[in-house]
Amino acid sequence: MTTKAQELSGWEYSLAPETTKIDIEQKNKLFIQGKFVSPKSRSWFSTINPATEEKLADVACAGKADVESAVTAAKKALPKWSRLSGSQRAKYLYRIARRIQERSRELAILETMDGGKPIKESRDVDLPLVAQHFFYYAGWADKMQYAFPGANIEPVGVCAQIIPWNFPLMMAAWKLAPALACGNTCILKPAETTSLTALRLAEIMQEVGLPEGVVNILTGAGETGKLLAEHKSVNKVAFTGSTAVGKSLMRSTAGTGKKLTLELGGKSANIIFADAAIDQAVEGIVSGIYFNQGHVCCAGSRLFVEEPILDEVVSKLTHRLRSLRVGNPLDKNTDLGAINSQEQLDTVERYIRNGTEEGAQLHEIHSERLPSKGYWCSPCFFTDVQPSHTIAREEIFGPVLSVMTFRTPQEAISRANNSPYGLAAGIWTNKGSKIFEVAKKLDAGVVWCNTYNKFDAASPFGGFKESGFGREGGMQGLRPYVRLQNQSRRAK
Ligand code: NAD
Ligand code: MN
Repeated sequence: MTTKAQELSGWEYSLAPETTKIDIEQKNKLFIQGKFVSPKSRSWFSTINPATEEKLADVACAGKADVESAVTAAKKALPKWSRLSGSQRAKYLYRIARRIQERSRELAILETMDGGKPIKESRDVDLPLVAQHFFYYAGWADKMQYAFPGANIEPVGVCAQIIPWNFPLMMAAWKLAPALACGNTCILKPAETTSLTALRLAEIMQEVGLPEGVVNILTGAGETGKLLAEHKSVNKVAFTGSTAVGKSLMRSTAGTGKKLTLELGGKSANIIFADAAIDQAVEGIVSGIYFNQGHVCCAGSRLFVEEPILDEVVSKLTHRLRSLRVGNPLDKNTDLGAINSQEQLDTVERYIRNGTEEGAQLHEIHSERLPSKGYWCSPCFFTDVQPSHTIAREEIFGPVLSVMTFRTPQEAISRANNSPYGLAAGIWTNKGSKIFEVAKKLDAGVVWCNTYNKFDAASPFGGFKESGFGREGGMQGLRPYVRLQNQSRRAK
């Protein structure tokens, strides 16, 4: 609709992203050897919009023969791709990055429709980071000798890359960009609830003329991932997802010579000292745990507050949560979208019940009715949480925060480290010396200071302990995708 003023001045607002119509293929095929092909398995599954429960499309479910075709394609493409000069590979990566930028509106909307995350996140966080990641690793492709001075650098080979549903395109970028920069060929397996944007990425690979077979995309569920990871011609498995599947991949790759990196879950601690800027810290708590409905592996799901400021933090947090909007993820004002699936909603609700049963106090802030269709969970938090409570120990992967207290920095550190995980942490204080003192004692791959959930392609990301091993992002993110001269070449 145009207003009188717009008619007179001759300009118009561009369409809001949520009004852009996205055409979705009804049958989404596999991407093998540079082409979209029907699955030999003849098997399909449907993907839905978790905000409406409406079916969006059918997606191919890759079986054994399809895995075979994709691995064969990747193997065949490997010699030529790995022998290309770094600057030639960089050209393709730069083109991919630019094409992602050009198609970012469409990709953001589809990401939101298929996965449920708010459009303001997919549009303003995910997509810019996806493009940035390809730009960043394009920059490394012809500078590998500076990353590994003096070494004879070779790619690892055929990479199986298995990703989750919380950041579908971002996880695809984290996996593909460094692998391609280093001269490997890839088979990407997106999560079953969020396959559609990965297939648009496949279109982009075609558009930029990426040589056939360098990237293959197999859709399917856990069984497809298992077949892929166990294929004997796969040289490297990169996985992001649950600790349970991560452990099974460790078992299945042990002794095979396959390289493995795992990025698993977390139960990250966000620590607020009494001398912190409280209002900013409350913003940090909100972005730490309610971003993407809490579907974030590094979510600040355990909050440790210095005892004297507990009441102030709880009251400010309550006030802030009242202003969060839960609802239609395509609405640009929405703060929390839909939970990704019925299964995940069941899990989150089970943890909330469990928290109450074990004696913690639930603070439910939102009382308004949520849409009758779709999977919704209002942001909430618990106080009176004991370290032994399940909600203080296990990853919930939803918008549920466990609030605990501490009296001394030493206590904060030991309680934060009292977890089988070690992915991320946050520290809030106005004392720089305290930041350094505490940060170096935390067992966490990433420590944010006076901020939370900030990402950059140049910054390595990854965990300790049961949060996994290996780093993605930064120069360190190249390491899992190369073999240096002194390493054996046992993998077939
Ligand atoms: P998941 O680990 O089952 O799935 C992640 C990916 O692995 C998907 O692509 C899936 O198809 C694939 N997969 C499943 N089983 C496999 C197998 N045996 N071999 C190879 N690949 C396999 O995770 P989920 O079931 O979607 O979520 C369960 C829990 O995992 C969540 O509640 C959350 O706690 C955690 N999670 C963590 C992350 C993270 O970023 N670290 C992401 C998603 C989920
Ligand atoms: Mn879906």
